[in-house]
Amino acid sequence: MTTGVDQSKAWFERAKAVVPGGVNSPVRAFNSVGGTPRFMVRGEGPYLWDADDNRYVDLVSSWGPMILGHAHPAVVSAAREAAVNGLSFGTPTLGEVELAEEIIGRVEPVEQVRLVNSGTEATMSAIRLARGFTGRAKIIKFAGCYHGHVDALLAEAGSGVATLGLPTSPGVTGAQAADTIVLPYNDLEAVRKSFVDNPESIAAIITEAAAGNMGAVAPVDGFNAGLKEIAHEHGALLIMDEVMTGFRVSKAGWFGLEGVAGDLYTFGKVMSGGLPAAAFGGRADVMAKLAPGGPVYQAGTLSGNPVAVAAGLATLRAADDAVYAALDANAKRLGDLFGRSLTEAGVKHTVQYAGNLVSVFFSDGPVTNYPGAQASETWRFPAFFHALLDNGVYAPPSAYEAWFVNAAMGDAEFEIISSALRVAARAAA
Ligand code: PLP
Repeated sequence: MTTGVDQSKAWFERAKAVVPGGVNSPVRAFNSVGGTPRFMVRGEGPYLWDADDNRYVDLVSSWGPMILGHAHPAVVSAAREAAVNGLSFGTPTLGEVELAEEIIGRVEPVEQVRLVNSGTEATMSAIRLARGFTGRAKIIKFAGCYHGHVDALLAEAGSGVATLGLPTSPGVTGAQAADTIVLPYNDLEAVRKSFVDNPESIAAIITEAAAGNMGAVAPVDGFNAGLKEIAHEHGALLIMDEVMTGFRVSKAGWFGLEGVAGDLYTFGKVMSGGLPAAAFGGRADVMAKLAPGGPVYQAGTLSGNPVAVAAGLATLRAADDAVYAALDANAKRLGDLFGRSLTEAGVKHTVQYAGNLVSVFFSDGPVTNYPGAQASETWRFPAFFHALLDNGVYAPPSAYEAWFVNAAMGDAEFEIISSALRVAARAAA
């Protein structure tokens, strides 16, 4: 049971004076659930502690990266060792080659990668490259998928954009959005039609390899394979956004589960161990178009930062088969507890997985696309969320997010989650 939030309240007031909304990313705000965001001061294994010394089992895991739990000794010592040797050189380094090799070694369709600093940069760069490679302008994206805050990709986006109920964002000009075609997720017919309606003008389809930003909504059987087939039939590229799924849902991400090869990939989150690093990569003939060898420009002062690279490498190297088995088992355990507690409380619900991403929708049946997620009874979520928080469980503060388990969770944490969920399910009734 949390004992008070005076410190978080005081810091939130200070934060609001100097940071818009008091947060540096809207998904951290409590706008859709109400109340005071918790200001965290420490993390260890499966737990976070806030400024009032309340302890929480963490089911956000920094929105995905922390598959090993917080402050994993191997990751912390790798980052510390790298930092001691210098924080940034603006030159090639050994570690970035090793990280590129590690990524390429895991995800077969990726022949070359370039490191960047955030998932947003990765998708932005992948799109520029796809346009440069094909000489075409238009991009297909799916409603409810989130690819970072890239101008052209904010239309009907998931994650914080969905949580705040925004259709798109002021500040994105008509010109920036004009080449974006938004289609319903899991609907191949719509994709086929779009290629017919826009002959020889679509550069790429970008899709979350499995959607996690409208809640966990896996691609229906054949969807990703169909995207690849249609894109190639029409001379376009398929960009698999694995920023969320990459190195989390398996050693080789969603590709490791499904085996459908994209032409380009985007990665972030897990591959940086919690520090700012991300990547885009894919077919060597496409990547060859990038500067300095090719004409498509892309760059970054801190790209391949040695500390972030060291943390990422240490995370990937520590994530052995046992870690992935624990992630899968913990996701299943969490989903089972959602089901049991909400059934007992008589609340209609659907538990969904995309690999080991897990979500609960207050809906009668499966959610397969964004309108389905929007039609669920999201009004139940704030009470559900706050009951969990008050009982020591930190969940995503939004009905439109996947929940992220980590491998450090065990029986003790599931006991806490189980009793918190019993209270939360009654609160959601
Ligand atoms: N792509 C996907 C699938 C994501 O989930 C996210 C972030 O949540 C991004 C891209 C953007 O990554 P970043 O927040 O590092 O810019």
